[in-house]
This record gives sequence, C-alpha cells and structure tokens, in this order.
Amino acid sequence: MAYLSTDKVEHHFHDVVIIGAGGAGLRCALQLAEQGHRVAVVSKVLPTRSHTVAAQGGMNAALGNVSSDHWHWHMYDTIKGSDYLGDQDAIEYMCRAAPQLVRELEHQGVPFSRLENGKIYQRPFGGQSREFGEGGQASRTCAAADRTGHAILHTMYQQNLKSGTHFYEEYFALDLITDDDGCQGVMVWDIAKGGYHLFQAKAVILATGGAGRIFQTTTNANICTGDGGALVLDAGLPVEDMEFFQFHPTGIAYVGPLITEAVRGEGGYLVNGDGERFMERYAPTAKDLASRDVVSRAIAIEIKEGRGCGPKKDYVLLKLAHLGEDMILSKLPNIHELALRFAGVDCTKEDIPVQPTAHYTMGGVPTNRFGEVVRQHAGADDAVVPGLYAVGEGACVSVHGANRLGGNSLLEIIVFGRACGNRVMKRLKEHRYHPKLDADCWQDGVARVRRWLDGAGDDVHGNGHGERLAVFRDEMQAIMQRYFSVYRTDKVMSEGVNQIEALAERMQSLVIEDKNSVFNTELIEALELENLMALARVTAAGALARKESRGAHARDDYPERDDVCWMQHTLASILNNKVSLAYKPVRTVPMTVDTFPPKKRVY
Ligand SMILES: Cc1cc2nc3c(=O)[nH]c(=O)nc-3n(C[C@H](O)[C@H](O)[C@H](O)COP(=O)(O)OP(=O)(O)OC[C@H]3O[C@@H](n4cnc5c(N)ncnc54)[C@H](O)[C@@H]3O)c2cc1C
Repeated sequence: MAYLSTDKVEHHFHDVVIIGAGGAGLRCALQLAEQGHRVAVVSKVLPTRSHTVAAQGGMNAALGNVSSDHWHWHMYDTIKGSDYLGDQDAIEYMCRAAPQLVRELEHQGVPFSRLENGKIYQRPFGGQSREFGEGGQASRTCAAADRTGHAILHTMYQQNLKSGTHFYEEYFALDLITDDDGCQGVMVWDIAKGGYHLFQAKAVILATGGAGRIFQTTTNANICTGDGGALVLDAGLPVEDMEFFQFHPTGIAYVGPLITEAVRGEGGYLVNGDGERFMERYAPTAKDLASRDVVSRAIAIEIKEGRGCGPKKDYVLLKLAHLGEDMILSKLPNIHELALRFAGVDCTKEDIPVQPTAHYTMGGVPTNRFGEVVRQHAGADDAVVPGLYAVGEGACVSVHGANRLGGNSLLEIIVFGRACGNRVMKRLKEHRYHPKLDADCWQDGVARVRRWLDGAGDDVHGNGHGERLAVFRDEMQAIMQRYFSVYRTDKVMSEGVNQIEALAERMQSLVIEDKNSVFNTELIEALELENLMALARVTAAGALARKESRGAHARDDYPERDDVCWMQHTLASILNNKVSLAYKPVRTVPMTVDTFPPKKRVY
C-alpha cells in the first residue's frame, strides 16, 4: 500500500452491486430486484446512455416467423461463426433460451416491428443458415426498426424502476475489494460531487461493456473503455481471448459510426472502385451476408489491391438506394440519419462510403455459463472466484469465440443477464450476512484517484507540464489501429508490442490539469486511459502469441487455422507489471446434443 489516506469514504450495504447499466447489467438487476433483493446498479453514465442504446439491427432467436428455423441450426451457425473457438455448452444454452426471452421482452414492453400477421418481424443477418448450412438463408434477427438496442435498454430501465432497483448514476468503479474469500465489494468515485463510496455486497457483477476505444476508428461510444476487464486484471486475475476483436465491415469511412448489417440483410450490397459486386468472389453462396470477419477481410483485400473507391482508394461503397425511399425510411430510419450526418450522403439516392471499423470485443472477463468469474488454477481450469460475476460484452462466456455473429450480442446480454441473476440468488441463500472487511481495504481505490489529483507528473517537455493525456491516448489508439488491425503478421505485431509496452512505461509522466473533485471529466478520462492501456497490452501480447488465423484474428504469415495447437482460449494477466499468457481448452461438449466438430468454414 503506497498511499495511506484519511479521505472520507461513505459505506453502502447491498445484497448485490452491479457495475454497468447496459442491457446486461439491467437484465441481471431485474431478475434479482423482482425477487426482492437489494440491488445497486452503479453506472458511469445515465443508464439509458449505455452503449446498448446504439444497437441497431436486432437480436437473434429461432422463432421461425419468416423462414423455417430451429434453435439447433442457430447453435450450429454460432459455433461455425465462432470458428470453433466458442464454448458449445454456453452456445447451446443461449440458442435454446432465445425464443422464450424474446417473447418475454415483448411482454415487458419492447416494441418489436411486426409482420402483416402480427408476429414479430425478423430479418436475415450474416452467417444465418437453415439445416446446418445446407438449406439456404434464415431470417432470424428480431428487430425494432433499426433501433433495437434503444427499445430494449429503455424497456429494461423502466422495468427496473418499477422493481425498486437502486441506481447510482455517474459513479465510476475504481477498484474491486477482494480477499481470500473472494470479492466483497467495490470502491467507487462519485463523478458529479466528487467523493469515495465503498459498496459492500454479497455478490459483485461486472457488466461494463466492450473496449472498442483501444482502437482509433471504432463504432463504440467514448465510454466503451473495457473498465471491467481492467478491474479484473488489477485484481491479479486473467482476461480471456482479447486478441479477437471484431472489425465490422461497414463503419462510415474515416469516422466510424456503424451502418448496420441489416442494410445488407434487407438487400443492400457492397461494390468496389470498379463497380463490381466483389463479395460474390469471396463467398459465392452467402455473398454480402457472409460472417463479418470474412466480409471485412474481403474489403481489406480489395483496398490493398487497389480496387478501393475515392481519391485515396481506401473505402468501398454500400449500395442501398435500390431498396426504395419508403422501405429505407420505415425499416432503416436511423441509418438514413447517420449517413446524412456523418457522411453527408442521402442514402435513398446515393451510396454510403464504408470501411472495416473496430466494433466488438469478443474477449473479456472469463466466466462459465452461469456468469461466475473463473480463473485458471494449477489443475483446475474452471475454479470460480467466489462472489464475482461478469455478464455482457465485457465478459467472455464464450459464445462468440473468434468471431461474433451479428444479432447474437443483444441476445447474449439478455440470456446471460438472467442466468447470472439466477445463479447469484443461490449465493444469496447461502450468504445471509455481510462479512467484516479489512480496515484499509478502500485505500487502493483512493490511491487511484489521488495519483491524478495530487500528481505533478514529470516535466518531460521542460515547459513546466507533463505529458498531455489526450495526445497520449491518441498515440495508443494509433498504435493499436496500425499494428493490430484486420491483417496481422509477426513482424508488424512485434513492433506494435514494443511500442505499446514503451508507451505503458511512459504512463507515469502523465498529468491532468484539472485538480478539482467536482465533475472532473479529465480525471475520468485519465482513469479510463489506465484501463484502456491495460487492455491494449494484453490484446497485443495475445495476438502476437497466437500463431494461426482464426475468426477475426487473420495472419498473413500463418494463414490457416491450427486446431491441433490453437483450439484453446488465451488467458492473459498482468503480474508484476508484466503481461503473462496461459491457455485453457475450448469446451466442446454441449449440454444435451452432439458436439459440432471443427470443419472448414465456407460461406
Ligand atoms: C453501434 C453498435 C451497434 C450494435 N448493434 C448490435 C445489434 O444490432 N445486435 C446485437 O446483437 N449487438 C449489437 N451491438 C453490440 C451490443 O449492442 C453490445 O455488445 C451490448 O449492447 C453490450 O451491452 P452491455 O450491457 O454488455 O454493455 P453496455 O451497454 O456497453 O453498458 C456498459 C455499462 O457499464 C457502465 N460502466 C462501464 N465502466 C464503468 C465503470 N468504471 N464504472 C461504472 N460504470 C461503468 C456504463 O456506464 C454502462 O452503463 C452493437 C454495438 C454497437 C457499438
């Protein structure tokens, strides 16, 4: 303990504290609050500003409202999409639960779009097949126009208000309180007023979302800084499979906002600088609806080989005007607005310029399918950390493996939000009282803030100031974008790892200028940067070490998937300030059905 503080800390007692008010945190909170448990949800932004609100295209479930469908086909597609790195027990659980949970959302108030016959509207999305890939395209994605996440998040928030969940809005989680008995709570900073809060709970659930902001161009909101993963790393625990980062094929060129896959699901398609519909060459059957890693790589190759569009030939065009103005404005209104605002394009008449853009964090805090955080022990790879849980994009359960299918993430947050809530109830029955905490357990959390508010920083520029935060963050994001993008090689990534590690060393010289404690957004950015840096380091090291191509991790120097050596999950920790890597096997045995053994992925 470097710092002994006398700062005041307000102590709160709850049965459960959930960090994160996105779809995952709120679905979990609802499960517990409805049963009368005292649940606190801590969020660094107002709940309805969580990134779930930005989800556009929809949520998968084999309802079979538009095409014939079955959860078993959904399971197959998800395993194939994951490039056989997904854990098959968790995938079976998710796909089986999907239809019931979509209906439940509808009853809770989500205004899904409708078919003529009144049933929930479903659109085709990438990687959706019928009858184990043999029977053509399924329409599996349930949608509320192109604002599905917005509808789900607002419904979940309302249901939680009704059920008596306690919200702590604009509170930032700083440090997990852990001891030999597991996780006992979390230290939190009140962003608006300044000040420390110790939340003691019988279960702590991380629902902190993705880490897209480690990259320069991303569809992710500013708040997607992977804080849960960083909290876990700081507690000496590993994160899983962080090298698998999904690049969405259709971010708006140069700026990043997402143009949903639903555009291609509804009949839009991509063309290169020669006006050619190039996906027909890469995925003769699924074409523009091949899975995301396949389409992103195809675009990258078109651009690399000089067939891009625009003066720099560095993007391709998404064509959708042929769908007609009525259809675009009724089913894709949000896309119309985004294209107009960010690309200056009226997509009822013109094509949208798009590029692959960092989108989704497949890796995260390792859990089993009950949301319990697991760590690797000598001989026991699934040892659970008592009292600590993780759900949503910040967790790695792992249903997405090396590549997520569109529409499976909104599903994941709802399915595992509920499953985790159920598991926590079991713990609450066994743990009726809060234990006594170590008297100084809150000091590390306080030290994290004090380092910034008190620190003068090194005067690296000889001008009376230390290094500037925003410049430093840009540098980190540029390194990740340049060295760990769609295509990777040993030479390029080795240089990237060296640069990221050198940058991490320089963190000490950073300062912030605002030393106030009230609404100090610079302080929050500094804390987020620490988190991003930790995740960038493990992402880089994991990527360099994995000598194969699988899903989103595509290497020019190892172009094939290697199931003999690499059908395993990466577990990366930061111990004594050094990244250390370990591995654990993929769970290939489903709950009740036969395993899907690995085979070549063709779309
Ligand atoms: C533009 C976009 C479109 C998408 N479209 C789709 C789609 O159509 N279909 C689909 O299935 N998926 C889609 N996704 C993915 C999906 O939306 C997300 O994976 C999912 O919503 C994540 O939910 P979550 O609850 O895990 O996290 P989030 O919704 O990101 O919520 C994270 C929460 O954690 C809180 N938090 C984080 N750190 C801290 C901290 N230190 N202290 C306190 N609180 C903290 C935040 O305040 C926030 O409340 C899309 C994603 C993006 C970016």
